[in-house]
Amino acid sequence: MTTVVDVGGAAEVLARHREVTVLCHLRPDADALGSSAGLARALRAEGVTVHHSFDPGTVPDALRVIPGTEHVVPLCDVPAHDGLVVALDCASPDRVGDWERLTEAAAEVLVVDHHRSNPGFGTHLLLDPDAASTASLVLDVLVAGRYPVDADLASSLYAGLITDTGSFRWGGPGAHDTARRLLAAGAESRTMGFELLDAHSFSWLRVLSQLLASARLEADAVGGRGSIWLHVPHEVVVAAEESDVESLVSHLQGVREAWVSVLLKEFRPGEWVVSLRSRDGGESGVDVSAVAAALGGGGHPAAAGCTLRGDLDTVSARLRELLG
Ligand code: 5GP
Ligand code: MN
Repeated sequence: MTTVVDVGGAAEVLARHREVTVLCHLRPDADALGSSAGLARALRAEGVTVHHSFDPGTVPDALRVIPGTEHVVPLCDVPAHDGLVVALDCASPDRVGDWERLTEAAAEVLVVDHHRSNPGFGTHLLLDPDAASTASLVLDVLVAGRYPVDADLASSLYAGLITDTGSFRWGGPGAHDTARRLLAAGAESRTMGFELLDAHSFSWLRVLSQLLASARLEADAVGGRGSIWLHVPHEVVVAAEESDVESLVSHLQGVREAWVSVLLKEFRPGEWVVSLRSRDGGESGVDVSAVAAALGGGGHPAAAGCTLRGDLDTVSARLRELLG
């Protein structure tokens, strides 16, 4: 049974444990790693034994700028223990990895998330779909629990906030209030912004130009709103930095003629990790999280994902059918 908690209730759960495993979702983004690194730092400062990990546990180079990621350990090295497991930014248990082994031994399992598609799991659930980032929720939990927030902790959380809000394009007043509090606590914003939003290698530019030249526009799709499609074959994925591949979707989102962007990444041969984006955030009817959910994934109305197996044409046809 899952008990729904508010930020104060989540802080009470944290306070009950001296050994805590802090997990975020596989192929972590800056919100997953930033929110979990921030929580891990706060707990360590209280003398708690912390195991910070995700599946499989190698931090992508581009995200190492986030303070605390140097303490991440491989998931296979995390012991099953009878303390607390916290899952952050994970919309479902299958986004965590090794879920059964780690949670069966645990006395309590706290889930902190902001994905509307989250069905609710764990013994305690803090779920706020209106939160701009999971990092925002972690800040509120730490404040409720009176944990000190130092500059490094604030920077970790800020990393999640700037990326999940698309540099504050989404998230409303709450996101700006969280930013104000994190900056006042000493969050570093310039390096974090450069490394997480702008930085790539020179060699990526050539790959990028070839990939972008292969993008296809379907101007009449999605009820006339238009869609833009790009696929990244396995041989390109293996030669590139993961963060560079992930960042491709931001180029698609800027195309005026398309309200919906579809990026297909062949991380394993015949297995396509799909990123979906909707420009209007679902407000005028294109909720990409519904499409992703219908295919076993999930996410937010404006940004969602799923993983599909098969050849490119079959996978694209399934997506096209659901997008309309
Ligand atoms: P991205 O395209 O950046 O990988 O993901 C966009 C959003 O969709 C993120 O909030 C991410 O957590 C969510 N998401 C991506 N893939 C999946 C998936 O397979 N399952 C679920 N439940 N959510 C996903
Ligand atoms: Mn997030």
